[in-house]
Amino acid sequence: MVNYQLKEDQIVTKIVELNARVVGLQFPDGLRVHATKLARKIEKETGATTIISGDACYGACDLSDRTMEGCVDILIHFGHTTLPLDYRVPVLFVEAYYTMEVMNSVKEALKILKDYKTIGLVTTTQHLNLLDDVAQLLEKNGKKVQMGPGKGTLRGQVLGCNFSSARELSVDAFLYLGSGNFHPLGLKLSTSKPVIIADPYMNEARTIDEFADRILRARFAKITRAMDAKKWGILVSSKEGQNRLEMARILKEKIEDHGHEAYLILLENIRPELLMAFRDIDVFLVTACPRIAIDDAQIYEKPLITPHEMEIVLGLRDWEDYQIDEIIYE
Ligand code: SF4
Repeated sequence: MVNYQLKEDQIVTKIVELNARVVGLQFPDGLRVHATKLARKIEKETGATTIISGDACYGACDLSDRTMEGCVDILIHFGHTTLPLDYRVPVLFVEAYYTMEVMNSVKEALKILKDYKTIGLVTTTQHLNLLDDVAQLLEKNGKKVQMGPGKGTLRGQVLGCNFSSARELSVDAFLYLGSGNFHPLGLKLSTSKPVIIADPYMNEARTIDEFADRILRARFAKITRAMDAKKWGILVSSKEGQNRLEMARILKEKIEDHGHEAYLILLENIRPELLMAFRDIDVFLVTACPRIAIDDAQIYEKPLITPHEMEIVLGLRDWEDYQIDEIIYE
């Protein structure tokens, strides 16, 4: 099992300090395996009752403050950092840093970074505590390191929908510390700079180029299919952190101005079986989490496209100006 710093003692101290009697606990899927052990500790050491959110949780955009409102005195949310949203209950965010060795993958990355002098360093929440150590290692190897504060993110932090900490940096290349390909893909599309991944989970380093080429080819195919669409479904999330209703209404007008039909569809979670009922819709435009259209593309029968991709379909943007969709909280 992967180990995370769950800051259990600090949580217990906070609950006692606040004299909270009912404590909500919310974890992303990968951390929920720790839920009952932590709930037991809290109940034993504070006398409070815990309620564990059993729903899927994909980010800080997806807080269970609404479902827990009126039930809990405090919600403890693990694995993400706060967003500038109005939460309905007091929330304690616990970043849950991953405790695995990461430096081997960074040393491997240095080999790929050999021709670049100035490096932008970014990661996801799980590894934020390691950024200074990684920066030191890079500097010892002759690199200049930059880390930017983001809009709604911490220094060096990226979300799957927010690369603002990287975009303003003037660097030769980016080093992304973490797993998976979606964040480095977004980083590349958002900054147009070379992106190298130091992946401690795979204990390797790689570039994002091949993956980015594959995804862009797939996106081009979706956009081409969408060009035949006459009837559009615009998906709007009811999750506060993903809700872009105003933008969806503007997009609806643009689509209608081009002679097509467009309908706003409000959903809590977007799933293939829910969209299958809309048999007469030709294409779905996603204004919810930007990852859905790209990461989950294969599981949907009809094309799902992003707002920037919609502009390409309607001839309002050139393919050469392709951009990743982002939700920036000012
Ligand atoms: S909208 Fe998507 S990418 Fe952004 S924080 Fe939420 S789950 Fe992550």
